Amino acid sequence: MTRCNPYGYATDAGPRHLMGGFYSSAYAGKQTTERSGIRGPAVCINPADRRARLICANGHAGPIMDLCARHAQEIMDRMAQCCPRCVWPAVARGVNETMDYLMAEMAVARDRGDVHRYGLLLAQLDDERHTMDELVARGIIAKVPLTLVEIS
Ligand SMILES: [Zn+2]
Ligand SMILES: [Zn+2]
Repeated sequence: MTRCNPYGYATDAGPRHLMGGFYSSAYAGKQTTERSGIRGPAVCINPADRRARLICANGHAGPIMDLCARHAQEIMDRMAQCCPRCVWPAVARGVNETMDYLMAEMAVARDRGDVHRYGLLLAQLDDERHTMDELVARGIIAKVPLTLVEIS
């Protein structure tokens, strides 16, 4: 029996891939990693009844995943709206990294009760959000749907 493995858990060390293999395990966050840093609620205990991979219209393909019916549906519902490789050209990735940085700094400022710094960071974050919106408006960030294709 092959166990359903939607997030690519190869070992107890954590997820090997996420979102069809496009994201590193750093994106797992709290959803897939418990405080122990070992395995979290996203580990599925069901047997896999299919093998499938996400493929986008531009030919990007994720790794083959062993999935149960529930996780096949979940991946289609949550993750297949757009291909992360198509949606994240280098320029957008840079903006996204800046936003991650700003949000991390905001959390630090909030913990310290530094309202002034928090406000400055928030304004910067707004700027980055606008940049992201512009990239979408100009078609630089394209939403290309993914299809979960079953492999026999
Ligand atoms: Zn499952
Ligand atoms: Zn793609």
